[in-house]
Amino acid sequence: MKTNAQAVVIGGGVIGCSILYHLTKSGWSDVVLLERDELTSGSTWHAAANIHGLHDSTNISRIQHYTMTLYKELEAETGQSCGVFQPGSLYLAQTEEREHQLRLQAAKAKLYGMNFYEISIEEAQRLNPLVNYDGIRCVMYEPDGGNVDPSGVTNAYAVGARQRGAEIHRFTPVTATDQQEDGTWIVRTPKGDIQTPWVVNAAGLWGREVAMLAGIELPLQPTEHQYFVTETMADVAAHDTRLPSVSDRDGEYYLRQEGQGLLVGAYEKDMKFWAEDGTPLDFAHDLFPDDLERIEENMMNAIERVPAVGDAGIKRVINGPMIWSPDANVLMGPVPEVDGYFCCNGIIPGFSQSGGMGLMAAQWIIEGETQYDMFAWDVARFDTWATKDFTKARVQDQYAHRFAIHFPNEERSAGRPARTRPIYDWQKDMGAVFGLNVGWEHPLWFAEAPGATDTNGFTRQNWWEPVGAECRMLRDRAGIIDISNFAKYVCKGPGAEGWLNAVFANSMPRSVGRSCLTPLISKRGGIAGDFTVTRVADDEFWIIGSGMAERYHKRFFKQVPLPDGTRFESRTEETCGFNVAGPKSREILQRLTNTSLSPEDFPFMRSQQIEIAGIAVLALRVSFTGDLGWEAHCAAKDQLRLYEALIETGKEFGAGPVGSRALMSLRIEKGYGSWGREYSPEYWPHEVGLDRLCKFDKSFLNKDAANSAMTSPAREQLVLLHLDEADTAASNADATGGEPIFMDGRGIGRVTSGAYGYSVGMSLALGYVSGAEAGDRVEVMVLGRPHRATILKEPPFDPTGTILRG
Ligand SMILES: Cc1cc2nc3c(=O)[nH]c(=O)nc-3n(C[C@H](O)[C@H](O)[C@H](O)COP(=O)(O)OP(=O)(O)OC[C@H]3O[C@@H](n4cnc5c(N)ncnc54)[C@H](O)[C@@H]3O)c2cc1C
Repeated sequence: MKTNAQAVVIGGGVIGCSILYHLTKSGWSDVVLLERDELTSGSTWHAAANIHGLHDSTNISRIQHYTMTLYKELEAETGQSCGVFQPGSLYLAQTEEREHQLRLQAAKAKLYGMNFYEISIEEAQRLNPLVNYDGIRCVMYEPDGGNVDPSGVTNAYAVGARQRGAEIHRFTPVTATDQQEDGTWIVRTPKGDIQTPWVVNAAGLWGREVAMLAGIELPLQPTEHQYFVTETMADVAAHDTRLPSVSDRDGEYYLRQEGQGLLVGAYEKDMKFWAEDGTPLDFAHDLFPDDLERIEENMMNAIERVPAVGDAGIKRVINGPMIWSPDANVLMGPVPEVDGYFCCNGIIPGFSQSGGMGLMAAQWIIEGETQYDMFAWDVARFDTWATKDFTKARVQDQYAHRFAIHFPNEERSAGRPARTRPIYDWQKDMGAVFGLNVGWEHPLWFAEAPGATDTNGFTRQNWWEPVGAECRMLRDRAGIIDISNFAKYVCKGPGAEGWLNAVFANSMPRSVGRSCLTPLISKRGGIAGDFTVTRVADDEFWIIGSGMAERYHKRFFKQVPLPDGTRFESRTEETCGFNVAGPKSREILQRLTNTSLSPEDFPFMRSQQIEIAGIAVLALRVSFTGDLGWEAHCAAKDQLRLYEALIETGKEFGAGPVGSRALMSLRIEKGYGSWGREYSPEYWPHEVGLDRLCKFDKSFLNKDAANSAMTSPAREQLVLLHLDEADTAASNADATGGEPIFMDGRGIGRVTSGAYGYSVGMSLALGYVSGAEAGDRVEVMVLGRPHRATILKEPPFDPTGTILRG
C-alpha cells in the first residue's frame, strides 16, 4: 500500500467508487480507496437500483441525466457489465398538482435536451398493459428510465479507476484520520498509514462514524427500507419486451420488472429508524427481518394500480438500511471548518446520481469549484443547529413523504421550532406564519389571526392576498420587516480595510458612515456572494450578507489570511434587525430618534450608530424593498423592545409587520437579484449586472478569474419579465423559479425568481436569457404551459431610483 496519495477515499460503495473513478478521469491518478470489507458492503449491494433523470431541481436533473448516460459508456470503457436495463419509465399523474409538476419537468426536459415527454394513455397502455390507467390525468414517458446492477456499476467504476492508476484496498478499515500541523492528513489502517492532503468520506451507512474520527458531526440518520420481488408472473413473462417501470408517486411506492416478475418498493408512513446511536461496525452484507405489514398501505396502492401484483407470490423481500440527511439530499463538499476534508454522505438515489456526484466531487476537489451551483447539496447548508432531534424529525418526514410533491414556497413543519429569536412569541400572536431559515423561525407573512398555516400548490395559495395587502401597505405607507436572518459580521483592527479589499471585488468605503455593495468572486469568476459593507469606525467594518450562505462563505473568507491584530467574526446570532421601509418610514423612525433622518443629514447608502426608542442600533440607509427605508440592527437582547416601539409607532402611520414573501415580491418589482437565485457562482458579474462593482485597480480574491470571465462575452443576461395578465389570471399562477423560457419555440432561458408585483399590478419574473432583449415577446412555462410575457426595459417600480434615494 502506498504511503502518500493525492486523495484517500474512505468507502467502496457506489459513491466512493464513482468519486475515485472521476478523480482519475479528471487527471489525478495517485489516489487510493480504502474499503473495510468487500466493495458494496453498505447500502449499495441490496439496492433496487432504479435510475431516473428528472428532478424538480434543474442542476440535480443535469446530474441525473449525466449519470444515466454514463453507465453504457462505463461498460464500453471497462468491459465490466453494469447490468443496464432501460425499458423506460412511465410517470403517472393522479392529481392536478402532480400534473403541474410533471408538465413543468417536461418543459425543463425540452429546454435542457433531456428525454421526458407526454404520451397518450393508449400509448402508455401499449408500453405497459399491466397498469390500470383509470383516473390518470396524464402520463409522461422517460425512455432512458430503468435500472442497473448495483455491484456491476460499483465494480465498473472500480475497474475504470484502477485502469487509470488508482489503488483500491479491500478489507482495510480506516481506524483514524489525524490532521497534521501542515494541514495534511494521516489516514490510519491496520495495514499501514497514508498521508494525503484530501480525505474523502464516502462511508455511506458509517458516514457519521468516519466523520467523528476527524471530530466532525454530520446530521445523518439511517432508516430501514423495504422492497419485494414477486415470483414469475404470466402477464410479465408473456410481454415480449421488458416493461417500463411505473412511477405512481402519489401512491408512495415504486414498481418495475425484475426477471419475469415485478419489484415493488415502498416509503411507508410508519417508517422505522435504525442505528440511532451509531451504525454497528460488524454490519456488512446483512439485512433486517421482513416486515411487509409495515408497507401494506403502499402495497395496496400498488395493487390498485397494477392489479396483477395482488395475485403474485412473493419470492424475496429485501429490508435494508439507507442513511438520510434532514432534507434527503447528500451532504457534500469540503467541510468549511476543516481543511482537506471532503464529505459525500447521506445519498438516497445513489444510482440515479452516482456519476454526476462523482464528477462534481472531483471538480470540487481538483479545481476548487463545481461547474454547477451545488448549494442544494452543500454540506454547508446545515450547521450545529441541525441537532440529532431535528435530524430525526426531518428524516421521518422525508421518508414518509419521499415521493410527495415539494411545492414552491413549501415549508415543512417537522422538527420545528429549532431556533427562535426573542420576538418569536410576539410575532406568533400577531398572526405570523413562519418558515425555516437556517434553522430559525422566520415570518413569511401575517394572517389576520394566530394559528394560520400555508396551503400548498403551484397556483396562487391562501397567502397570496394577505401578502398583497402587506406589499401595498409598505408601498403606500410603511412596513416593518424582520431581517434578523441576514448574516452579519464585524471586521475590526488596523488591517481590516486591507483585508476586506483583498477579499471583496469592490473598493471598501474610505470614510466612516459610508456603505458599499460588493460581490464576492468565485474560483471560476462567478458570483459567490453579494454583501453590504459599512465603515462604522476607522478600523471597523460591518458586513451583511446572505444568512443561508454564512457557512458556505467561510470557505472564501479563510482563503485570505487575516493580518495580525485584525479580527473577523460572525455577529449573526447576537444581532437582530428590522427594515423599516415605505414613504412613511422616515416619519416613523424620526418619532423614535433624536438623530436627524432628513435626506441631507442621512442620505442613501450612509450609516450611523444611533438610538431608536433608547436602543443602540446601527442604522443603514439601504432597503431591499427598493423603497425609501432604513435597516436598524440591534443586540438580540433589545429585539423585543425595538420591535414593540416600531410596531406601536408604525400603527399611527398605518404601518405594520411585513413578512419575507412580501419582501420577495417587492425586490422583484425593483429588479433586485438575490443570492442563491439570481446570484450564484454559475453567473459572471456582467451577466448579472454587478460588473460595475468589480474594481480591477486593486487585488481581490479570484480577480484573474473575474477578469477572464468579464473579458468573455456574456453567455446569458439577467432580465425582468412581465407575464401577460390574461394568461396568469387564467391559470391563477405566477412564476416561482425554474420555469423554462421559450421564444419562437426555441428554449432561451429560465426563470430564477417570480412573484406577483402587487404594487405595480403585474405578474413578474427574473430570469436568465440568451439571444433576446428588452421588448421581445417570449413564453414562460408556468405550470409547464406557455404563458406569454414581455422582457421589460426597466423595473416597474421606481426605475430611476428617485424614491429609494428620496
Ligand atoms: C432497500 C434499498 C433500496 C434502494 N433502492 C435504490 C434505488 O432503486 N435507486 C437508487 O438510486 N438508490 C437506491 N437505494 C439507495 C442506494 O443504495 C444508496 O444511495 C447507495 O448505495 C449509497 O452508496 P454509498 O456509497 O454512499 O454508501 P454505502 O453503500 O453504504 O457504502 C459505504 C461503504 O463504506 C465502507 N466503509 C464504512 N466505514 C469504513 C471505514 N471506516 N473504512 C473503510 N471503509 C468503510 C462500507 O463498508 C461500505 O462499503 C436503495 C437503498 C436501499 C436500502
